[in-house]
Amino acid sequence: MGFKSRAKKRKATTTGNDGSTEETKAEFVGEVPCDIKGCGNWADKKAGGRKMAYDRAVEVWGSSGVSQKVRKISLCKPCYRTWKKENKGQPKEWE
Ligand SMILES: [Zn+2]
Repeated sequence: MGFKSRAKKRKATTTGNDGSTEETKAEFVGEVPCDIKGCGNWADKKAGGRKMAYDRAVEVWGSSGVSQKVRKISLCKPCYRTWKKENKGQPKEWE
């Protein structure tokens, strides 16, 4: 035994002479853009994005609202939510 688990606590002390609070903005840069036109979000898995069958997306946004015609398009999280809302009451076919 004799193993001590030490919880490391870091005090948030500001060192530096400029009194400005520096915020590190870690802007997420993804690889998979959302396929909904005019959206501009990332649809990476990391960002909560999902893949969806083209036809299902068209049911909500229309064929002109989906930027590319591929069998599975990429949806960002907000768009997926929109889709889910629109499809309330329909039987779940996935998840
Ligand atoms: Zn989107």
